[in-house]
Amino acid sequence: MEVASNLEAPTGSATEAIVTLAGVGKTFENGTEAIAGVDLAVQRGEFLALLGPSGCGKSTILRLISGLDAPTSGRIAWAGAGARPDVGFVFQEPTLMPWARVFENVWLPLRLKGVGRRAATPRVEEALESVGLADFARAFPRELSGGMKMRVSIARALATDPAVLLLDEPFAALDEITRFKLNDDLLALWSSRGWTIVFVTHSVFESVYLSTRIAVMTRRPGRVATVIDVDEPSPRSADFRLTPAYAALARRTSEALAAAMGEA
Ligand code: ADP
Repeated sequence: MEVASNLEAPTGSATEAIVTLAGVGKTFENGTEAIAGVDLAVQRGEFLALLGPSGCGKSTILRLISGLDAPTSGRIAWAGAGARPDVGFVFQEPTLMPWARVFENVWLPLRLKGVGRRAATPRVEEALESVGLADFARAFPRELSGGMKMRVSIARALATDPAVLLLDEPFAALDEITRFKLNDDLLALWSSRGWTIVFVTHSVFESVYLSTRIAVMTRRPGRVATVIDVDEPSPRSADFRLTPAYAALARRTSEALAAAMGEA
C-alpha cells in the first residue's frame, strides 16, 4: 500500500496510461467551478476508483473522459494516435428505454453506429450472457428487478467492446445484498476480460473492495489529492472484507479522504 504520484504508473507493474488528464478544469456556464487542476493518468487494465464526497466533480471527470463534455482548461490525452477510443458509460440510473425489450436496449449503441440487428445479435447476446441475463433478451425493463436493470445497463455499455468502461456510482441505489453481488460479478468480469475501468463512488469500503488504485478527491472544485495503491490479489471475494489488509486499507483511505476534505 503506497501513495503514488497521480501521473505515475502503479508501482511494480509495467503499464501504460490509456488516458491522461493534465491540469484539467471545468467551470460551468453558471459559474460553478466543478473541478480544477485535475492530474490523473488512467492505466491500461486497471480498476481505478474515483472517491470523493458528493458534488466534488467525480461525474464531471467521467463526462470529460467520455467526451460528453469538454474541459475549460487543461488537456485530456489518449494513448496511441490520440483519438478517443470507444468508451462505455454506465450511469447512476439504468436509463433504459421502457418501451423497448432488453435486446433493443443493449443493441442501441451499436445501432447508433449503424450496426443492423442481424450483425449485432451475437454481440448483444454475448453482452447479456456476460452479465448473467442470457435468458432475458425479450423481457421489458418493467419485468426486471433494480439489480437486473443495472445489469442490462452494463451489458449495453459492453456491447461496443469499449476500451474504457466508466461507471458512475452504478450500484448506489441498490440494496446491499444486490450491491455486493454486482460488485463480485463486476470484479470477475474485469479480471477475466482485462478491461480498463474508472468507477466513481463515495464509499470508502466499495473503493477498497473493488479497485487496484483509489484516486481520493478534494471538495469542490475537486482535484486528485492522493492516489492509494490497493496491492491486493484479484479476483477478490467476500473473504477479502474480513482480512486485516482490507481493514488497514479502509482506515488509510478514510484518513486520506478526511485529509483531502480538509484541503482547500
Ligand atoms: P459528483 O459526481 O462528485 O457528485 P458532479 O461532477 O456531479 O459531482 O458535480 C460537481 C459540481 O458541479 C456540483 O456542484 C454540481 O452541482 C455542479 N454541476 C454539475 N453539472 C453541472 C451543470 N451542467 N451546470 C452547472 N453545474 C453543474
